Parts: sequence; structure tokens; C-alpha cells
Amino acid sequence: MNRSRFIQQAIGLGPIWESREGWFADHPAEISRQALIQAHHDQAIAELHQPASTATATAPAVQPAAPILASEKDKPQPVSPATTVLPAVASPIGQIPSWEQLEQTVANCERCTLCRTRTQTVFGRGNPQARWMLIGEAPGEHEDRQGEPFVGKAGQLLDNMLAAAGLDRDRDVYIANVLKCRPPGNRNPAPEEILACQGYLQQQIQHVRPVLIVALGRFAVQTLLQSEQAIGKLRGQVHQYQGIPLIATYHPAYLLRNLPDKAKAWQDMVLAKQQFSRLTQTA
Ligand code: SF4
Repeated sequence: MNRSRFIQQAIGLGPIWESREGWFADHPAEISRQALIQAHHDQAIAELHQPASTATATAPAVQPAAPILASEKDKPQPVSPATTVLPAVASPIGQIPSWEQLEQTVANCERCTLCRTRTQTVFGRGNPQARWMLIGEAPGEHEDRQGEPFVGKAGQLLDNMLAAAGLDRDRDVYIANVLKCRPPGNRNPAPEEILACQGYLQQQIQHVRPVLIVALGRFAVQTLLQSEQAIGKLRGQVHQYQGIPLIATYHPAYLLRNLPDKAKAWQDMVLAKQQFSRLTQTA
């Protein structure tokens, strides 16, 4: 039995396969995402504090961020200490909306053009008091229809990996995405959409205050760490997001298309479990 097959069986998953066109398409990135984020960051943060009715969707048109390329399959390497952390939205927990207010604000949000094509927003799922927080990219077709993150085959894989790690999706973790609305056709999130929406995620994190964050997929990892490095370079080690340890790993939908990387994803879950145990034992 080869290694990927062994890992598949270990996490109780059959050899299923799901194609999500456009997620990892190989296209040139003509504008540096990092430079774009730097250029628009102040504008986005300012907009996030405006009432939704006055928020603008005036961010200039930009190219999609760079896709995951072959380098993602590289062995994990230590990250440069220069890797930066996304600045917090300036509000302390006492000044951010309540969980219910935040959920309602997201449900009515029109900060970016994705509001025109969504069926509904996907706020998150799980236990808001959980000590684990999983953060993915954006709703897909099934999520848009059902209003929950990680449903369908990718959700099944995530559930199996959580179960293998002794975690229940509804009891032990809270799951959210960087974007709360589905990009049409499951295309890559545009940088201005990430910038428009990331404040909601930051406020969710401030509410949940998890012991550990697991970032799933390139967009979540790069957004939270403000890094352009591939997941292959960022996984396999412990990062920090605003003082919260963060483990980077592959998105379940990617793993469904790249079975050999399931072994690496499982290694990341083992690392996350070890880190969580260490943190909670010393707390
Ligand atoms: S993706 Fe985020 S910022 Fe854009 S409309 Fe949906 S909730 Fe608002």
C-alpha cells in the first residue's frame, strides 16, 4: 500500500475526487498581490469602519492573486522572520459588534460586488467558544446554496480529518472563510474582495479567541500571514496571527485533486494537535 493510500484509509476517506475549475489554474500574476495589499490596506481598513450603506466598492480592478504552482510541492522550509502578520482592525473586543450584530451585518453586506451574485452569505459554522478555529477561502457552490462552510466532498474530507484528530466539527471547532460570499464560478477571490471582507473575519477571530488557528488553503494562509510564499513553504511550522499560533495547511478541495499531499495535510494536523496540547497543558 502506498503512503497516500495509507493516509486516506487512516482518515477514513474513500478515493473520491472533486474538480473545482479555476481554483488552481496556472495563470500569470501580472500585479504583485503583496504590493497591492500594501497599496490598498489603509483604504480597506478605513472602509471597514464605515457603515455598510456608505461603504464603497471603488477599489481599482486588479488581477487575481497568483495561483499555487509546482513549488507548493516543495519540502517545508523555515519561514523568514520577516513574514509579517496582518494588522488587526483597531477595535478591541469591547468595541466590536456583538456576534449577532456581526452576523446580521455580514448577511446584509454589500461591500463588494460578490453581493450581487451570491445566494446567501456564509458566516461560519461551529462553536463560537471553540478553542480551535479553522479558516478557509470562500464559499463554493454547495456552501452558497446551503449557507454553511465546507459542505460537499471537501467538507466530508475535513470532517474525516477532524474526526481522525479527535475533533468534532460542531463542538470543538469554529469554521469560517476569508470571504463570506461565493466568487462566481468558484473563481479565485480577487484582492479587493479579500480586503473588503477580511475585517469580518478579524472580528470573528476576536470573538472566538481560539487557542489555535488552522488556515486551510493558499488564500487563507497568505491573507492571514500577509505572505506571498506558497503553502509548501509555509506549512510544517507554527506561525503567529496576532499572538495566536497558526498552522498552515492545504485546502480540502485541493487535497481532493492532489491525493499525494494528503499525507502532508495529515502531518500538519498532527503538528496542530501537538501544538494545541502544548498550549493547553501550559495554560
Ligand atoms: S464577500 Fe464579504 S465584503 Fe463582499 S459582499 Fe460578501 S460579506 Fe460583503
